[in-house]
This record gives sequence, structure tokens and C-alpha cells, in this order.
Amino acid sequence: MTKVLVVDDVADNVKLLAYELADQGYDTIEASNGPQALELAKAERPDVILLDIMMPGMDGIEVCRRLKVDPILEPIPVIMVSAREREEDVIRGLDAGAYDYITKPFNSQIVAARVRSAARAKGAHDQIAILATTDSLTGLPNRNRLQEHLACCVASDRENDKFFALLLLDLDRFKEINDTFGHHYGDAVLRELNPRLSTAVRGHDTVARLGGDEFGILLPGVDRSGAVRTAERLLASLERPFVVEGQSVEIGTSIGIALYPEHGRDPATLMKRADVAMYASKRARSGHAVYTARQSDLNPERLTLISDLRRGIGEGQLLLHYQPKVDLATMRTTKVEALVRWLHPREGLIMPDQFIPQAEQMRLIKPLTLWVLETALAQCRAWHEAGIDLDVAVNLVPDSLQDSELVSTIADLLKSSGAAPDWLTLEITESAMMSDPAHARSALKRLHAMGVKIAIDDFGTGYSSLAHLKDLPVDEVKVDRSFVKDMSLNDRDACIVRTVIDLGHNLGLHVVAEGVEDSPTHALLTSLGSDIAQGYYYSRPLPATDIPDWIRRSTKSLAPVGMASQR
Ligand code: C2E
Ligand code: CA
Ligand code: CA
Repeated sequence: MTKVLVVDDVADNVKLLAYELADQGYDTIEASNGPQALELAKAERPDVILLDIMMPGMDGIEVCRRLKVDPILEPIPVIMVSAREREEDVIRGLDAGAYDYITKPFNSQIVAARVRSAARAKGAHDQIAILATTDSLTGLPNRNRLQEHLACCVASDRENDKFFALLLLDLDRFKEINDTFGHHYGDAVLRELNPRLSTAVRGHDTVARLGGDEFGILLPGVDRSGAVRTAERLLASLERPFVVEGQSVEIGTSIGIALYPEHGRDPATLMKRADVAMYASKRARSGHAVYTARQSDLNPERLTLISDLRRGIGEGQLLLHYQPKVDLATMRTTKVEALVRWLHPREGLIMPDQFIPQAEQMRLIKPLTLWVLETALAQCRAWHEAGIDLDVAVNLVPDSLQDSELVSTIADLLKSSGAAPDWLTLEITESAMMSDPAHARSALKRLHAMGVKIAIDDFGTGYSSLAHLKDLPVDEVKVDRSFVKDMSLNDRDACIVRTVIDLGHNLGLHVVAEGVEDSPTHALLTSLGSDIAQGYYYSRPLPATDIPDWIRRSTKSLAPVGMASQR
């Protein structure tokens, strides 16, 4: 049942609202001041909060602010209650992150409709959150979920989290099983892993499927010897052969162990080191291994490669490819996404996944971003001059929003390139909002005020939050590739995509589906009302020189069929 928290210092108002809401079938809880409201929100996790603005002591605006900085309470929609004549209060409330408002004296039909709308939004949010954090094959938590738990453990000051262990478990020769018996057989084996692994851990441990045949296990409050004992139990649970369709196979397993805080203090380092330990154990066929610095030897080739990048940026080794974003209503391309590549003199073409994360660590990301923006804007201007009205989207890493010079740099680049601000879209991930939301928000607002468009990239993989979107100057959401990929085969994925499309439209945003690879997916997206699509089905990322030709061809033939075959 939908639970509504009603907060007002005037007892009669609380009673009146609670009465109306109970009549509509809502479960209500009541608070008469700010601190009590925060406490109840934490303990009861209501679905909607009705919050009076004018209260003695901590007023509704302050309560709302505090709710919105708490990652757990933040998604709960807040409806502000204000006196009719105090419009400036309403504005302050919405600025503090409120979802909506109602005015006194109450019109019960409006109250009911606004609570219904907020409850629907919360329902959609919860649904996405669940779908986005579980693995559909095994029903286990997925990589996002494990990352969240890891981040919580690292940030927590609870006694039990002073130390913990992260285990990475990888099946040996799983690919052979898939190749020999077929994928459905491999899938059956993976499903069987959930009940087995669960018997080897405690109730509050997290076992997650990270993808393929790789699993991550988080053990709070466990030290080295405890982690080794658990690893041995996990290995024992997988020793018994797997029997599928009368076929019996044995599967070898390797586990790598990283310990907090000994081997790292942040999630990324711990994941990397558990991975290094896992490979060491695979090589040694030892079943499990605890991380040691010697194992990593930090692959010297990779390190020189990255130190080459600094020079590479200056010496013109980077290049941009552009992937069309196709308007599904007209099948026209009005925008392209710029994607960087590195043409290394020795190694050949290197894809961004291979150097962007390292560039971030090496602080090379700033010159790289600058180069990408400069090049993309110059290209965009050149297209416009040639009569091709193409806008361009550029990716930003999350840290860029924390860079205090970002806004002025972009303003300067727009001026010097002669490109109009609304030709540029910046694609950022939701995680960009996490570390310093106020700062990120203000940077986005200033960029948006200049006319630059903002897209939320990889939507659904992080802390998907309705409230963020409602509150931010966002023009576009891009549904993550991982949901789009199998949506024509997988109802859950299709359901997520549909929810995001509806949600995006309710918030007045353009919805983009990325990673469209085939015609059934294209057809389904069109019927669900997605605005824009992007993917190999339409076109791979292309060199700038191929774009005018693509535009010509795609305007001529309105049907996309056959486009995908042309590189
Ligand atoms: P992204 O922003 O999600 O970009 C889309 C990626 O999906 C691109 O990979 C694109 O080639 C790929 N893709 C497009 N259609 C399909 C499809 O139908 N199927 C599949 N499987 N993949 C498809 P790419 O170019 O390798 O870029 C990977 C990531 O690297 C990007 O993910 C983005 O996060 C990052 N990146 C790329 N260029 C830049 C850049 O200039 N700056 C920054 N900060 N990051 C960049
Ligand atoms: Ca992108
Ligand atoms: Ca993306």
C-alpha cells in the first residue's frame, strides 16, 4: 500500500489531510515538526511526503533540503504545502527539490490527484531501481548493486564495516562449456550457481553476478582468515558436478581476494586488485589467492602506453568518429555523437574504453576533453557552413563537472569556434551528480542558460533518480545500451525501456535509445514512442568525411533497412 507522510505543525491540517488520504486508500503517518518528519522518513521510508512549508523551528524548505541530500531518502517525492498567497514559498520549495505543491485551503480532488501523480512517479522509480540492480538470468544482484554496496561499506562509519573483503570468482573454461553444449546449457549452469554460492555465505553478505561467468562477493566485517575460509567454502560448493539435461560437467573456479582497507580504500582499486588476485590464482591453479603487490607487476606495456597518451594528445594522434542519432519520427539524422579514438603509431587504433579510464587517473582527461570539444565544435561549424544542419554531442567524464573552469572554457570554445551554443549537447552520466551535487547542478544550470543542451547518458545503470531529472536542466535521457540490446527478446528489459520512455516524456525530455542493433529492436522502440535511436543498425561511428554522404543517403531513403551494412 502507498504510504504517505503528512507533516504540519497545525494538528487540524494533519488530521484533515490524513483523513482525505485514508479515504483514498492511502496508508498515512504523521509528524508535527521538521526533526520528527526526518526521523519518520528514515524509519518508515514513505512513498510520498506532504510537507508544510511554514513550521516553527526547522521549516519545510530546510526539511526538503535535508531529504534531498540523503541518497536513500532523495527519491521520495515531496509535495510542498503552502498558503495560497505565498507564491515565493512555492518557488523556494521547488528549488529545494520538491516534486510538486498544493495550497491551503485544500481542494481535496487536487490533493488526491497530486498525491497520485507523485506516487506513480515513485512507483516508476522503484521499479527501475529493482530492475536495474538485479541480474535477470540468475536473479542475483548485478554489478551496479555490488558497486553500490561497496561504496556504502567504504563510506560507512559502522564498526562492522571497519574492514571487509571483496572476492571475485570466475569460472575456468566456461567458454568451452558454452561452445560444446550451447548457450542454453551454459545459462542453466549459471542459474544453478545462485543456490550453491548462497549456501557458502552469511545472510548479510552480497553475492552478485558481474557479467558472463564472473561473480563478486562482498563480505562485511570479514578479515583475511575469514575471507580465505569463505573462499574455501565457495570452492567446495562448486565441486559437485553440474547436471543439466542428463549431462554432467565439472567446473573449475578461481577466486581473487582483496581486503579493505589493506589493499585499497576505494571501490575501483579494490575491484582491480581482486581481479589481479583472481588472475594470479588462475595462473597458479590455486583455487584462491589473496592480493599481493607482486602479482600485479602493473603490466609494464600498459603503463608506457598511457604515458604515450600525453604526447599523443599534443601530436595529433587523437581522432573523432561521429555516430548518427536518428530521429525515429522522420528517420532523419539531426545530431551525431562524437566518440574519440587514439591512433597509436605502434599499436594502431585504440578504443576509448582502453584509455579514458586511465586518462582520468593520470589527469590527462582535461586536455583530452578540451581537444574533443574543440575538434567537434570546429567540425560542427564546418558542416553548418556546408549547409548540413547537424548538431554534435560530446561526452564528459563525471569529474569534469567538478572542474571550476569547465563553464568558462566551454563559453570560450563556443565563441572561438563560431558554433551556436544550441548545436552542442553534453552527455553526462548520473554519477556525475553524486560527489558534489550542488556544484554539478550549478555548472549545468549555467551551461544550459548559455543554450547548451544536456543529456543524461547510460540512464538506468546508476542511481537513477527521478528527482534529479526533474530538478535539472536536462533535455535528453539516453537509455543505456544494456537494456536496449535484448529488449526485443527480454520482457524485463522492454519494460525498463518503456518505463524510461514514459517517464522521460512526462518530464518533457527527449528519449534516446542507444545500442540498437537489429530491426525488431528498431520496430519496438518506434512503437513505444522513443524519440531518437542510435546504434549499429543505423550506422557505426563514422569518420567526419563520411558524414555528408550518410546524410544524403539517409534523407533519400526514409527506410533504415540496408544502412547498417554500409560502414
Ligand atoms: P557511450 O557514451 O555509451 O557511447 C556509445 C558507445 O556505444 C560507443 O562506443 C559506440 O561505438 C557504441 N555503440 C554504438 N552503437 C552500438 C551498438 O549498436 N551496439 C554496441 N554494442 N555498441 C554500440 P565507443 O566509441 O567505444 O565509446 C565507448 C565509451 O567511451 C562511450 O560510451 C563513452 O563513455 C566513452 N567515450 C567515447 N568518446 C569519449 C570522449 O570524447 N570523451 C569522454 N569523456 N568519453 C568518451
Ligand atoms: Ca555517450
Ligand atoms: Ca551511453
